[in-house]
Amino acid sequence: MEKKNIDWSSLDFGYMKTDKRFVSNYKNGAWDEGVLTEDDQVVITECAGVLQYSQSCFEGLKAYTTQDGRTVCFRPDLNAARMKDSCERLEMPVFPEDRWVQAVVDLVKANEAWVPPYGSGATLYIRPYMFGSSAVIGVKPAEEYQFRMFCTPVGPYFKGGAKPITIRVSDVDRAAPRGTGHIKAGLNYAMSLYNIVDAHNKGFDENMYLDPATRTYVEETGGANFLFVTKDNTVVTPKSGSILPSITRRSLIYVAEKYLGLKVEERPVALAEVPDFAECGLCGTAAVISPVGKIVDHGKEICLPSGMEKMGPVTQQLYETLTGIQMGRLEAPEGWIKEIC
Ligand SMILES: *Cc1c(COP(=O)(O)O)cnc(C)c1O
Repeated sequence: MEKKNIDWSSLDFGYMKTDKRFVSNYKNGAWDEGVLTEDDQVVITECAGVLQYSQSCFEGLKAYTTQDGRTVCFRPDLNAARMKDSCERLEMPVFPEDRWVQAVVDLVKANEAWVPPYGSGATLYIRPYMFGSSAVIGVKPAEEYQFRMFCTPVGPYFKGGAKPITIRVSDVDRAAPRGTGHIKAGLNYAMSLYNIVDAHNKGFDENMYLDPATRTYVEETGGANFLFVTKDNTVVTPKSGSILPSITRRSLIYVAEKYLGLKVEERPVALAEVPDFAECGLCGTAAVISPVGKIVDHGKEICLPSGMEKMGPVTQQLYETLTGIQMGRLEAPEGWIKEIC
């Protein structure tokens, strides 16, 4: 398979049109068989449910080349299951999970020339998404839906090393208790745009959201879960019903316990105890773990002992181990790596 002539390591996290995308339509109560098509345009009625009332959800995962030259992706069954949860919460029809994973395999195979080579640091980012496509004017679910998956090569998240970031404690809330914070709905991102632009304008990389009910517990950022490390090397991650269940975070917890022999606690984390932690990181598919060096709470600075130069030692170990598993340098737990070709 001849790869595209791309300078993989200088790619950004951006969109590039690749050869094929998967499209399936839901009509009269059933999904059609779906196709791989070159057509990247979506044509829907001006009154589509997604355009009026934001009935949409999405997923994000990666395919990449392992050290021994296989093309694989990481735990796509968990993305399929999470999208099922999102669809059920948004009154959208579920795309069957086995067909969902098969569509990922077919999509990546059809775009194999776009899968970055091992060692480039780049990956093929896959974006599955679903939206209400039929006309809706009174507030109710659409009757017809479109499910699509495209993929685009993205560059290494950390160019020239993972520099710790500075985040702020947000005055704006992300997700209400018993709301939609636990699902990957487009609406959760639409409402966060104002706050992330404001954070960037004020010199912060991200927002730390607190629990809206009491504003005393740490939830997550706009698109990544928190992992903390205590001074005696226990990994601590916030537990809350309004956090999006990150697949990266769940995988890192497993790695911490089973590969590194660390103690893990999943529990409510008070903002007041954050100054006691030794390390802090943000986890998600894009970066795996992005180290946090400083948290600013209304002028009061919490400086993590790991500093602003590099990842803390436990964060680094977690990062190396999970990326080692993904890239085929370390043995993966059963079922984590889906072979494509
Ligand atoms: C997608 C997402 C994450 C990260 O989840 P992964 O499965 O690890 O990519 C974390 N928080 C939010 C709000 C998200 O939307």
